Amino acid sequence: MSRFILPFLFLFTVSSLHAQSLPERLRAHLDFLAADSLDGRGLGTPGKQKAAAYIADAFKNAGLAPFDDDYFHEFFIRISMVNLTGTNVVGVLEGSDPELKNEFIVIGAHYDHVGFEMKKGERVVYNGADDNASGTAGLLELVRTLSGRRSELKRSVIFIAFDGEESGLLGSKAFASSNGRFTPAVIRFMFSMDMIGMYKSYNGLDLKGIGTLDQGPEMAREVAEKHNIRLKDISASVEARTDTWSFGERGIPTAHAFTGLKSPYHKPEDDAPKLEYEEMGRVVEFMADLGARMAAAPALKPASSFKGTDKGGVRFQAGVVAGGGSSFFYYRDAFYNAKKKAEFSAGLFAQLHLGKKITLQADGLYDFNGSDSQIGPVVRHSLTVPVVLQYNLLNQNGGQVRMYPFAGAYYRQHLGTVTEDEIPDLPALADSEMGFTYGFGLDVMKFHFSLAFRRDLTGVFVTGDDVSARGAMVNFGYKFGGGL
Ligand SMILES: [Zn+2]
Repeated sequence: MSRFILPFLFLFTVSSLHAQSLPERLRAHLDFLAADSLDGRGLGTPGKQKAAAYIADAFKNAGLAPFDDDYFHEFFIRISMVNLTGTNVVGVLEGSDPELKNEFIVIGAHYDHVGFEMKKGERVVYNGADDNASGTAGLLELVRTLSGRRSELKRSVIFIAFDGEESGLLGSKAFASSNGRFTPAVIRFMFSMDMIGMYKSYNGLDLKGIGTLDQGPEMAREVAEKHNIRLKDISASVEARTDTWSFGERGIPTAHAFTGLKSPYHKPEDDAPKLEYEEMGRVVEFMADLGARMAAAPALKPASSFKGTDKGGVRFQAGVVAGGGSSFFYYRDAFYNAKKKAEFSAGLFAQLHLGKKITLQADGLYDFNGSDSQIGPVVRHSLTVPVVLQYNLLNQNGGQVRMYPFAGAYYRQHLGTVTEDEIPDLPALADSEMGFTYGFGLDVMKFHFSLAFRRDLTGVFVTGDDVSARGAMVNFGYKFGGGL
C-alpha cells in the first residue's frame, strides 16, 4: 500500500472509531484481541506481541506518557528450562495537582491468556475473550475516557496491561517489586479488571477488596448508584487469583472488578460473541467515574483494618486428594500387631486459612483399609473425614508455600467388608470409628503433600476395645483455581 494512502486510511479508521458507541468500541477491541490470529495471547507467541503493540498504540493515541523510553516494561521468566521475556504495557496520565500528582492509582488488566495447543494436527486456540480480553478492552476505553478528563485527575493514573498473569501473576509481581519510579510507597490504590464481560449473566459486579481502602465501599456505592450498577462483593479480602494479590501483599489497597465465572472459563469456547457488550459499557463508565473520583479525592489511605495480605486474612481453598499407605490392627492386650495391609483413599479436601499461622483442613475420603488379623485378612471400605489444625512453620508468598505439622481427629463410617473369603469366627465389626490423626504437610502452589498417621480410639470390633486400627498414609492433593 502506498505510504500516502496509509495515513488517510489511519485517520479514517480512527475517526470511524470515534463515531462508534462505547459497546461498539469494546466489541471492536474484542474482535481484535480474541481473534485466532492472536494465538490465545500465550506466553512466547507472536500473537501476544501483537496484542502488546495494539495496546501500546492505544496508549500513544490517547497521549499517555510512556513508562520509560517506551511503553514496555520487560521482565524475565524461566519456566521448564525455557527463558522468556514478559512484557507489561504501561502508560501514565500525569495528575493536575502539583502535590498529589506524585501519588499514583494503578488501573490494570492482564492481557495474556493460555495460548493454543495442537490436537490431532488442529490448532485449538484459547481466545480468552472474557479472560481477559474483556478487561483489556475495558482498560483501553478507560484510557480513552480518562485522558479526556485530565483536568479532573489530581493524582496520576498508571494504566497497565499485565503479562504473565496466567503463569502465576508474573507481570504484576515484576511491576510491584520494581524499585523504579513507581514504588509501592507512592501507589495509593490498584484496580485489576479481570473478566468483566458477563455483567448481565452474573447480575452484578464484584469489587472484591474495595474494603481495603478507607471509604472505598462508600465511594463505590455512590458511583454505582449513579450508573445503576449492582455491586455484589465489596469486601476487604484481597483476591489471590488475580493481579490484585501482587499489590495487596505489599500493603496497597486493591480491588478486583469481576463479573463471575459465567463464560467458558479457560476453555477454547471463551469467544468474543458470548460477551455482554451493553452491560460491559456500563461497567466501564462506572469504573471511569470511580477512578476519576479516587484520583481527585483529598486523601486515599488504607482501611484501618487492612495490614496487607502478607499478614494473612481468611482464605478458602479446595481440591482433590489421593493417598496410599498401610493400616493394621493393634492388639492392645496381646502385645501383638497384626500384619499391615495396603490402604488407599481418594476424595476432596478444603482448607480454611485463618491468618498466617493457622490453617484448618477437612477431607472427605472414600478409602480401603484393614489388616491381616489373628482370624484372617479383614479389609473394609469406608468414608473417612479427618479434620486437622495445621500450624504453619513456614508461610511465604501469601500461602503459596507452606510447611506445617498438624493434628486433629477423624471419623470413619464403615460401609462394608471387601474380604474375599468368609471368615467364620469374625466377631461383629463396629459400624464406625473415631480417632486422632497427626503428621506433617507441605503445600507448594497448587500442590498439597502430607504424611499422616491415624490411631483409632473406639476399636475395630463391637465387643471389647482391645483391638484398634492404625495406619500411615502419604497423600497428594491438587488445589482448584489459579490465576483467573
Ligand atoms: Zn484472568
